[in-house]
Amino acid sequence: MPHALSLPSPLAAELAQLFVRMDAAYGQAARQAGFACRGCAQNCCRSLFFHYTLAEYLYLKAGLEALPAAERATIRQRAEAIPDPAAPAGVMCPLNAADRCLLYAQRPMICRLHGIPHRLRRPDGKQQIGQGCDDFYRQCGKGVQPLLDRTPLYVEMARLERALRGRTGYGGRIRMTVAQMILAVANGGLL
Ligand code: SF4
Repeated sequence: MPHALSLPSPLAAELAQLFVRMDAAYGQAARQAGFACRGCAQNCCRSLFFHYTLAEYLYLKAGLEALPAAERATIRQRAEAIPDPAAPAGVMCPLNAADRCLLYAQRPMICRLHGIPHRLRRPDGKQQIGQGCDDFYRQCGKGVQPLLDRTPLYVEMARLERALRGRTGYGGRIRMTVAQMILAVANGGLL
């Protein structure tokens, strides 16, 4: 049954380790550039981020389900109050409470990596360059070269996702905002 989907323990542990690597890579690049994310008017928790892996969804789901019922209900209400959870640009993420992520340990990959200019070697061999956030360039200037190589992090995430799909047999496409993930969990899981 789709709603019974969960992240098998070994894969959850591997994803936790990968998230530690991401946080370390981000921290090292930020220190190197002298960048400190202190919260800004253009808070990226208000941005429109999509997340693309079943692994991230199930990891967030486990965190959500571990919260007290009253807190889960409040988060669900916040997600339901977003007019279009599939396009909540400019609307605060339902997991952000007083500038604190309620599921910081379970937050998805892009929440961990956004803001630092980066490079990515795509599967076709081409290199892709990604910009930092506005606050990054305000603090560090425009001349900073891409600092964070996302390639090994994405490669490992893709390997984990393949392993998870193989284990669960789930073949659906994932492209979800956090608000959509919250509503999917509240409504019994992915279809
Ligand atoms: S999951 Fe957490 S870090 Fe990511 S957008 Fe929501 S509140 Fe911000």
